[in-house]
Amino acid sequence: MTALDQLADDIRNAHHIAVLSGAGMSTESGIPDFRSANGLFTGNRSFADVVSIDYFMDDAAGFWAAFREIFKIKLAGGYQPNAGHAFLADLEKNHGKRVSVLTQNIDGLHHKAGSDEVLEMHGSLMGATCLFCHTPHDLAWVQQHDVPRCRSCGMVIKPDVVLYGEAVPLIEPAFELATQADLLIVMGSSLEVGPVNMIPLEARRAGVQTALINLSETRLDHAFDVRIEAGIGDTCRRLGDLLA
Ligand code: NAD
Repeated sequence: MTALDQLADDIRNAHHIAVLSGAGMSTESGIPDFRSANGLFTGNRSFADVVSIDYFMDDAAGFWAAFREIFKIKLAGGYQPNAGHAFLADLEKNHGKRVSVLTQNIDGLHHKAGSDEVLEMHGSLMGATCLFCHTPHDLAWVQQHDVPRCRSCGMVIKPDVVLYGEAVPLIEPAFELATQADLLIVMGSSLEVGPVNMIPLEARRAGVQTALINLSETRLDHAFDVRIEAGIGDTCRRLGDLLA
């Protein structure tokens, strides 16, 4: 049996599927993954230093200039879901599966594709909030101002993205969902960023069947029962055919 046939079987047999998605999920929508985004930043500071709560607190204007460039704020919101996002929404809508999407992505594309249960563990680019008075602002507001300030109190607002140095607030429910599911599928993640990369290890320890769809090897390949080293779009189209 091929790995693809095995994964199709696992999906058929599962009631509750948890999916851990990473930046590779959205490359086919035209959004570069972490390595490429990292490569784009050529200042003196590292990526983790720039996209950090310390830098935001020290120099909000510098932070916003770099953040805007790295995450292509002008284009954010214009990207469309791809075949991978659509496949997950389809499992929920047309195959009667509960699909808990635990995503590291901040691009909002799982929501846009129609997935109902999405935990954006690293937050979202689609808004920004005032740390002082908690007023929320949408992406349009952020796009209109070089250094976006709160419409209520005038403080510089922070993107609703979990920055380096901040806690990952949804990590506990993510672990819970992944360890309670029948099947965990990791899609498009190098599994280099903690604590999220512990999720497949914990799921496996809890007896959950685990699968990985990724273009390249990861350091945690040993944590998976099924591994498919291929593009997500093509793999999901073929899985869709097998499940039809
Ligand atoms: P990563 O960039 O470290 O790894 C992406 C992985 O996906 C790589 O191993 C790559 O081989 C694989 N990949 C790329 N395109 C693929 C495809 N079409 N099919 C299958 N595999 C593919 O990403 P990560 O592990 O998610 O960590 C990156 C961090 O940066 C995350 O914390 C995330 O929040 C952030 N980030 C998010 C976005 C986004 O929201 N779209 C984009 C860049 C970075």
